[in-house]
Amino acid sequence: MLDLHTHLIGHQDRPANRENIQDYLEAARRAGLQEIGFSDHDMYLEDLNLPLIREVAEEYPDLKVRVGLEVDYRAEDEAKIQTLLQTFPFDYVIGSVHEIKNWLFDYPDQAPKHREVDPDQLYLEYFSLVEKAARSQLFTTIGHFDLIKIFGVRPRTDVRELAANALQAIVENGLVAELNTAGRYKPVGEFYPERKLIQEMVNRGIEFTLGSDAHEAQYVGRDLSEATHLLQACGVKRLIRFEQKKRLTLPLS
Ligand SMILES: [Zn+2]
Ligand SMILES: [Zn+2]
Repeated sequence: MLDLHTHLIGHQDRPANRENIQDYLEAARRAGLQEIGFSDHDMYLEDLNLPLIREVAEEYPDLKVRVGLEVDYRAEDEAKIQTLLQTFPFDYVIGSVHEIKNWLFDYPDQAPKHREVDPDQLYLEYFSLVEKAARSQLFTTIGHFDLIKIFGVRPRTDVRELAANALQAIVENGLVAELNTAGRYKPVGEFYPERKLIQEMVNRGIEFTLGSDAHEAQYVGRDLSEATHLLQACGVKRLIRFEQKKRLTLPLS
């Protein structure tokens, strides 16, 4: 079992010190993980201490500890992201769309705005950014693929149709999707992506990794065994993990 989407410092809730790294690694052990990856938000890069993660990891020889980053994708920032990714030898990079034309749509106070626009248009705009992220050659992984459903707004049209170009871009660029369990604790109350999309991804040959999106140590590994069973039920035979951007596999049996 692995968890490649965790936030050591949350939203700048605590420092990136030895004690907090240990808290996360202890939580990973308790959750029975073999592997954990830290993927803090790129906007906090200056608050992180990535070499310290590698150092503390040596105290936990039973755990594989990876260092990644979750990057806010904005089309106009591609060059900036490219530069930022050269500052550390990341094991993997999650590209996430949290923002549509400067609208930070996933903030809790933005829920009403989701109901003021045409839902199909909302989904199409979101997925067109996911498509761009997938084509940018910057990432190994696409984060929480259907995050736009966060407040429970559903499109009129089949979501697989609205997501088709983004899915195609993921295939063409050899990216990995994640099954991200955090959506269950948002108003929508279900994993990202929903089962129908997982099945569509499997049909298109897209592979998966796992992430809790824990912003606190206590949530590391949350619901990941259920997530694994869901993937298996959809025909997934192995998970993907990363070392220095190289894809490694973890068979599911
Ligand atoms: Zn995110
Ligand atoms: Zn995250």
